[in-house]
Amino acid sequence: GKYVYFFGNGQAEGKAEMKNLLGGKGANLAEMTAIGLPVPPGFTITTEVCTYYYANNRSYPPSLAAEVAEHLKKMESLMGRTFGDRNNPLLVSVRSGARASMPGMMDTILNLGLNDETVQGIIAQSGDERFAYDAYRRFVQMYSDVVMGMDKDLLEHLLEQKKDEKGVHLDTDLTAADWKELVGKFKAKIRETIGKEFPEDPQEQLWGAVGAVFGSWMNQRAITYRRLNNIPADWGTAVNVQSMVYGNMGNDCATGVAFTRDPSTGENYFYGEYLVNAQGEDVVAGIRTPQPINRANSKDTTLPAMEDVLPECYQQLVQIRGILEKHYKDMQDIEFTIEKGKLFMLQTRNGKRTAKAAIKIAVDMVREGLIDEKTAVLRVSPSQLDQLLHPSLDPKAQKRVIAKGLPASPGAASGEVVFTADEAEAAARLGLKVILVRVETSPEDIHGMHAAQGILTARGGMTSHAAVVARGMGKCCVAGCGDIKVDYAGSQFATAKGQVVKKGDVITLDGSTGEVMLGEVPTVPPQLTGDFGTLMEWVDRFRKLKVRTNADTPNDSRVAREFGAEGIGLCRTEHMFFEADRVAAVREMILAEDVEGRKRALAKILPMQKGDFVGIFREMKGLPVTIRLLDPPLHEFLPHEDKDIDALAKSMGVTAQSLRAKVDYLHEFNPMLGHRGCRLGLTFPEIYDMQVQAIMEAACELTKNEGFSIVPEIMIPLVGVVTELARLRENTVRVCEEVIAACGVKVDYLIGTMIELPRAALTADEIAREAEFFSFGTNDLTQTTFGLSRDDAGKFLPFYVESGLLEEDPFVSLDQNGVGQLVKVAVEKGRATRPDIKLGICGEHGGDPSSVIFCHRIGLDYVSCSPFRVPIARLAAAHAVL
Ligand code: PEP
Ligand code: MG
Repeated sequence: GKYVYFFGNGQAEGKAEMKNLLGGKGANLAEMTAIGLPVPPGFTITTEVCTYYYANNRSYPPSLAAEVAEHLKKMESLMGRTFGDRNNPLLVSVRSGARASMPGMMDTILNLGLNDETVQGIIAQSGDERFAYDAYRRFVQMYSDVVMGMDKDLLEHLLEQKKDEKGVHLDTDLTAADWKELVGKFKAKIRETIGKEFPEDPQEQLWGAVGAVFGSWMNQRAITYRRLNNIPADWGTAVNVQSMVYGNMGNDCATGVAFTRDPSTGENYFYGEYLVNAQGEDVVAGIRTPQPINRANSKDTTLPAMEDVLPECYQQLVQIRGILEKHYKDMQDIEFTIEKGKLFMLQTRNGKRTAKAAIKIAVDMVREGLIDEKTAVLRVSPSQLDQLLHPSLDPKAQKRVIAKGLPASPGAASGEVVFTADEAEAAARLGLKVILVRVETSPEDIHGMHAAQGILTARGGMTSHAAVVARGMGKCCVAGCGDIKVDYAGSQFATAKGQVVKKGDVITLDGSTGEVMLGEVPTVPPQLTGDFGTLMEWVDRFRKLKVRTNADTPNDSRVAREFGAEGIGLCRTEHMFFEADRVAAVREMILAEDVEGRKRALAKILPMQKGDFVGIFREMKGLPVTIRLLDPPLHEFLPHEDKDIDALAKSMGVTAQSLRAKVDYLHEFNPMLGHRGCRLGLTFPEIYDMQVQAIMEAACELTKNEGFSIVPEIMIPLVGVVTELARLRENTVRVCEEVIAACGVKVDYLIGTMIELPRAALTADEIAREAEFFSFGTNDLTQTTFGLSRDDAGKFLPFYVESGLLEEDPFVSLDQNGVGQLVKVAVEKGRATRPDIKLGICGEHGGDPSSVIFCHRIGLDYVSCSPFRVPIARLAAAHAVL
């Protein structure tokens, strides 16, 4: 087979499409060469050689040596220089280049081919002895580190010694003689430390470097990077051997990096930085302050722009920018070097960009006729959109980070620290902005979470209560911040570094990074119009899957509609029960001695519940709304503190002792598998009857008075057996018909169920007899399929993911092979019984891009997710089609 591909002088054996074989860098060097751009000649050893190398005990295909020699010859003849020649030597760089970019993960060696003889030739070529010896010592340092495994600090130490000895501070203060002396000392140190001579033979150097690059594919850094980025180990890396060009031979030399458009805003101008008389590494390493390539986007106009300093090269680069964009039809990230006034391209690739830039570039390129709308939609990744949908920290602002936790719910928020939900609510009523800080949150904190600008917890993972609820509210949350110790008694928390933050102090949270900052850091609001709006119009034209939202309040419903929600897929009614003025009535209802007592308490709740539904229906203006009847374990509503029990006992006219006994009786060992969902509705039918009455009265009144046509979808949770649903359906129909008769209007309604237990999925054909729709509650379905507690998994699930036992957190991304199969079975069985059954998903997965794509594939009608994820789901649904 062919293992080596040449590029140089306008001819290339490879091309951009050959990334799998040549790696990204090699494929693009070939492509640039072929379209006539100035690229130093070289060759690429393919990724197949890497695969061979590992399959054959770190050896090469027998024909490789001859192929390399042949291509080296071609390089020599193009350059008019000879590898290893003492008078006019060719020097090369040896770099890795995988299919996917793995920045900084693998090794690079520059200036290869230098030895005590060839250095003389470089002096002759450059006329600069200092330059030649500086290049030589850099090569010895790099090579001994990367190829020979030398501890680089030992050589660095010799360098420092030399500077001390001469009383200078900068490398640039050392002379040719100093570098020459250091090369000798370096080699002696290497010999002394590892017992091997530094290789003088350029061929030996070359093969040593090639081996090191292939070897670096399996270094720990690279392995970890691949795991984090889902890059398969068997892809392998290619090796690029290329003629050296120098940006550090004098003031007519330079090196730089540039983007063909601004990668943070997407603005259509040339954006880049360069340094005169420097090597490529110097720009990125930040040792010297890089200068702008042009005046137009220069923040500091006192810095000399390349446009002025090297005008001809600049003009050539501008031209190349145009050629590259027309050719690749995407924003490029380029590296270039200027050697003695001559420009060379060293790299091009599609540039990484912010979400904002991704959208602007995609929309602009459609307008410019470079790409079509479909391509534009595919250019923006759904997960990236998240950045745009929340207020974010002003990138220009100063920040003082005091702790870091999990980025549980994106966005940014500032406010005064409070430690209880009641404090949060009270402060919000006074118009104050607060951050609620808790060890962890529970349903009792909902009102405080609503009132707060952001939530910070010391414990809990990405699926903890705080994280899920905050995401649902679109509220910024940093969870599991082990760096802080919360001291409720002292109304303060301390950070690991000893910073103490007291109640009333202002902090800022960044839910996208997990950072906690002292003081108020300014934010910028999300931009949903303009280019974003244009792109989303295209998105909606392509997608088939509908996107609804999970919303419990009129406010969330409005936000979701602004984000493009086409209905509510899940309105959880329990959160409504926690509001301060209701929870007493709810507790009274739960703890009532008999049906009559329960009905008395429910009668107090009914008008409030009806008001909730009126508000939500009104916001949704006739779009479908699925309302789930009460679901959580009763005990979540119970008072536990003595003072609460005393107060409640008083208001109910019973003794605290008997009330406590009742509370104890209701305690459950495993509440998630306990008295919840439809089991409540069956044992306390009055509760669901009241809710159904509230829903239907709201729908009937609005239909009568405001002219909407509303078709409420009433949803029964946690059904496992069809008989449960059959009985509850009877009750529901009875109440609905009573209300309709009493109101004297015609309102249609649907009755359906959640599929959130494996048994329900497996018997979906039976259940579909009683259900007009299914909504997959994949949070519980994941919990019950894995037998993995949603509330406790945070303690060990991160370990599962980090150590590769699970590829992803199944509460974040749907487990398609397990849980997903149950969903698929239920879809098929449900449709077999009732072909027009409406099918959707309302678990957290409804807003996760890969899960949305799965939902499209198995034929769901819609996904439902938290308001702020609606655009993400819309985009993912479009990607599923394209
Ligand atoms: C679910 O279980 O997936 C669901 C949406 O319901 P909840 O999260 O309220 O249990
Ligand atoms: Mg559920």
